[in-house]
Amino acid sequence: MRRLLTAKEFEEYLQDQQEKASIAAFRDEFDFLSNFYPVKIRYNGVTFHNAEAAFQAQKDPARSKEFAILAPAEAKRLGRRVNLRNNWEDIKVVEMIGILQAKFQQNPEFLKKLLDTGDKVLIEGNTWHDNYWGSCHCAKCKNQGQNMLGRSLMQLREAFRKEIEGYAGN
Ligand SMILES: [Zn+2]
Repeated sequence: MRRLLTAKEFEEYLQDQQEKASIAAFRDEFDFLSNFYPVKIRYNGVTFHNAEAAFQAQKDPARSKEFAILAPAEAKRLGRRVNLRNNWEDIKVVEMIGILQAKFQQNPEFLKKLLDTGDKVLIEGNTWHDNYWGSCHCAKCKNQGQNMLGRSLMQLREAFRKEIEGYAGN
């Protein structure tokens, strides 16, 4: 044995390992994981231009067609002004998973990229204090978010992988 790492080296090593084991933001080569990424998704009979618009539309499905043509930031804005379905809080994660499932089923090139992330932990890291869908790493939030978007993506990744393995086994 050569020598133990210094405390500082060990910290760097741990940080490095953690980075290797996770995707900490949905940008650059992992931008396709973001709900803002442009991608056609047909969901509940309407075709949207990004997952964000598909998701925001579910808050008030009667107005879905208005969302269909919107860019993600516009959809997010409109989503704040609609009349929320009364059970929205109970169903929003299920809707999100349904939309993401549609996104990857309908766009096999993205499904391949999702599967290629292997077992990495997917974290929708952000700086705008979204600690429900993601995890904000500002000094106040300290990266303790619930990361529901990242978790939904990992759940789907596992389900798709099992499905593919199932086919391969037949
Ligand atoms: Zn924050």
